[in-house]
Amino acid sequence: MTSLQTRSVDEAQRPKSLYRRVLLKVSGEVLMGEQPFGIDLATLDAVAADIADVAARGVELCLVIGGGNIFRGLSLAGKGMERASADYMGMLATVMNALALQSALEKIGVDTRVQSAIPMDAVCEPYIRRRALRHLEQGRVVIFAAGLGAPFFTTDTGAALRAAEMGCEALFKGTSVDGVYSADPKFHPNAERYERLSYMDVLSRDLRVMDASSISLMRDNGIPIVVFSIRKRGAFLEVLGGGGLHTVIGPEIAN
Ligand code: UDP
Repeated sequence: MTSLQTRSVDEAQRPKSLYRRVLLKVSGEVLMGEQPFGIDLATLDAVAADIADVAARGVELCLVIGGGNIFRGLSLAGKGMERASADYMGMLATVMNALALQSALEKIGVDTRVQSAIPMDAVCEPYIRRRALRHLEQGRVVIFAAGLGAPFFTTDTGAALRAAEMGCEALFKGTSVDGVYSADPKFHPNAERYERLSYMDVLSRDLRVMDASSISLMRDNGIPIVVFSIRKRGAFLEVLGGGGLHTVIGPEIAN
């Protein structure tokens, strides 16, 4: 399907999303499926299908994908490798995931571009803000790879920065759990899921949804963060329409 066809399908169905342009951050771990490492192709295809459903409704989509399924800088640094080198390896892992997701999306007719914060011309486009904006306007899904292109950061921070730069109305964080809980629901079955939290709640209670610098950046720019389970099929579209299980992190509600 070309981007033009995607957009014509869209207009009729547009009211289904509350948002016009969003960024979806998917952690690398999600792509592992039930495997201990790497990319599970069935999971990759399922995530791509959910993204395609949203793109077909005319929502302009930015994607940021982590690298934790392949490589995390901190874990090798913990074993004695120089932190900056380990982080660069982590960033390269995100490029691999971005290419995998691009391939899965294009296979089902979604027009995409990968832009990397570390230029690698033979593989993908370099990150150029105005070019990325143009792709979005053309109905292409833009996948941002290599985080910020700087060590000592994470792809969460990269996602927050790109969401602000691209003028996204919300940052969707697709995780393995359907929102933010008072304790890890895997180990605490009675843990409470929050419907809504303020940026300050997350920071002051150290809820570890995303790192503190990403939360601060979203707070400074007034961009809400929506946490939901990307493992549940169809949840992305449902949550974009305001339904399904999720937690919204936004400004303090005045009493
Ligand atoms: N990374 C980095 N700078 C960035 C983005 C990522 O150094 O701007 C490195 C860091 O080592 C990180 C790894 O890339 O551990 C993979 O990203 P992340 O851990 O955020 O992936 P996720 O947890 O989302 O799968």
